[in-house]
Amino acid sequence: MDYKKLRQEMANTQLIPRGIKNQRVLEAFSKIPRERFVPANLQSAAYDDCALPIGKNQTISQPYMVAIMTELLDLQGNETILEVGTGSGYQAAILAELCKKVYSIERIETLAKPAEKVIKELGYNNIEFVVGDGTNGYPQSAPYAGIIVTAGCPEIPQPLIDQLKDQGRLVIPVGSRYQQILTLVKKEGPEINIEESVGCVFVPLLGKFGWK
Ligand code: SAH
Repeated sequence: MDYKKLRQEMANTQLIPRGIKNQRVLEAFSKIPRERFVPANLQSAAYDDCALPIGKNQTISQPYMVAIMTELLDLQGNETILEVGTGSGYQAAILAELCKKVYSIERIETLAKPAEKVIKELGYNNIEFVVGDGTNGYPQSAPYAGIIVTAGCPEIPQPLIDQLKDQGRLVIPVGSRYQQILTLVKKEGPEINIEESVGCVFVPLLGKFGWK
């Protein structure tokens, strides 16, 4: 398998035609070996235009979804970001390329550990992995310039809004159990401004401020 070629094709056929234009985001996608973040028997499908199962009823998100969520964060390079839902660790690796420090929290330890292992093997040392309920955010390292939630939730968890910096951005799928709208929440002084982006389908965010 020529993964480098598949990676380039993914950008050319799935990301750019759908409107992903941020050059730094596209560069991160051309660099990160997505095949390392999927189960061994699915490696040849790593660059397919879909989500893939990673065990424990969870998925690695479709490349386009990872890209649009990352683009909405509008990263410049010096931010500290919180990711809720480590899963495979792929999104965390993309973020690690684009900002200063990533905290990634996952409720299922048996997913967090292999994700951490791959990330270490790839040489990233700006990601910290936490096991716990990310609907509470991670107050220990707040506030964050950006928070990205990679699971669907019924409402925006208040702790995540509280843990955003002024001018910070929260990207989160909000909606029903089986269908959500990718939502961008911007904290602008005393105002919380909400913009809706594309429709999406994520596994549920389970926890205190998510699905019970
Ligand atoms: N970002 C991941 C996608 C993972 S799927 C990737 O790039 O592969 C969503 C993940 O969110 C699942 O692993 C699920 O276990 C996790 N999750 C669900 N509710 C959570 C919560 N309250 N706190 C932390 N992680 C949660």
